[in-house]
Amino acid sequence: MNERETLKINERGHLELGGADCVELAQRFGTPLYVFDEAYIRRMMRVYRDTLAREYGENGMVLYASKAFSCKAIYRIADEENIGIDVVSGGELYTALQAGFPAEKIYMHGNNKLDYEIGEALDAKIGCIVADSYSEIDKIDVEAKKRGIIQKILLRINPGVEAHTHAFVQTATTDSKFGFSIQNGTAEAVTAYALTKENILLEGYHCHIGSQIFEKKSFVLAVEKCMDFTAKIKEKLGFEPTKLNLGGGYGVWYTDEDKKLSPEEYAEYVEALVAEVKKQAKERKLALPFLLIEPGRSIVGEAGITLYTVGSIKEIPGVKKYIAIDGGMFDNPRYALYQSKYTPVLANRANEETTELVSIAGKCCESGDLIAVNVDLPKAERGDILAVLSTGAYNYSMAMNYNRNLIPPCVLVKDGEAEYIVKPQTYEDLIRNDLVPERLKKD
Ligand SMILES: *Cc1c(COP(=O)(O)O)cnc(C)c1O
Repeated sequence: MNERETLKINERGHLELGGADCVELAQRFGTPLYVFDEAYIRRMMRVYRDTLAREYGENGMVLYASKAFSCKAIYRIADEENIGIDVVSGGELYTALQAGFPAEKIYMHGNNKLDYEIGEALDAKIGCIVADSYSEIDKIDVEAKKRGIIQKILLRINPGVEAHTHAFVQTATTDSKFGFSIQNGTAEAVTAYALTKENILLEGYHCHIGSQIFEKKSFVLAVEKCMDFTAKIKEKLGFEPTKLNLGGGYGVWYTDEDKKLSPEEYAEYVEALVAEVKKQAKERKLALPFLLIEPGRSIVGEAGITLYTVGSIKEIPGVKKYIAIDGGMFDNPRYALYQSKYTPVLANRANEETTELVSIAGKCCESGDLIAVNVDLPKAERGDILAVLSTGAYNYSMAMNYNRNLIPPCVLVKDGEAEYIVKPQTYEDLIRNDLVPERLKKD
């Protein structure tokens, strides 16, 4: 198992996160349950913030990419840690604003921002919109004019860096739906276009090459491409960007096929990026841009685990043994989406030797509803508490009510104390928006 400061096995042989016994958490709150370790989240936010400040001074900001895990409490933590956030929808923006997050530290992304989302962003006076289409630039300009404001924007550009990660989480290949390509000239053309808009202030560029990436060289190459592009734009259009947002994408540990990075090793990504920005700026005689990074997964991913209760166990002789849990793709759709790998642990017998090769199945009516395939586990029994590790990112945020299963609640653990940050759904919630036309009503 991937032991670390706040995830360990206690003297009772139980898994413990942030000082809380996971078996007790399962008894108290029920399962399935998402558990988040506040100390880990804060430590990661601080590592990025402090490293950027140390290497680059006041001329930068960390944005937490909140699509990884969005709820009011996480925005409170980000605000307390004095970092910014990015949002990718009106719903995330609303949640952040309801949590009292300062609008000027919010960046908005999305390849197809809807008219009303642009309106909401402008009404809230958010810091910056990262524009990703011509029609969106037009819309921002019109809406800004209506409100008598000048909206700051960045343009999302595609540096054409193919990072080594799952094809579905690569975002800077030539056929990506995201960004304007540097290579084919569209990034330059859209820059010229945005500069003609009177109610828009183009501040610079954004790029995000993908997710779950470990190689520093992919990130460094993206910096080089962006700075090279910046130099060309300055020469051709006389426009020198003042901001560069390099996105996120730093990988996390899911299974022992992944590296397990320490906070200091995450700091090295920031150091490498900053070094390259400085080097490129010097070589190309450019002013140092205000620098932003947007880690999401690496802030919350390893901070979270999901607790389940083991139910049916089915052995297909000579083929497979399925351990079914009370959750599944409705709380973690990542295996179904990307065949993502996870590490399950028996939380109530965390010390026991693994003796069996099993697959963890969810309870949805889908054969593809799996959480892990061919993983080692001690002999599990109905009623055991199964923990799946590293589920803090893109699990709750991707959860759904398929089969009318209830999305599990989230608890936040700090110094052994746990409390809800997202309370349990009820069956009532499931039918809250259901309407029965008069003619179908049962009298
Ligand atoms: C998803 C995303 C991020 C965060 O990616 P992680 O892999 O979670 O760090 C940052 N910026 C943008 C634009 C994104 O879409």
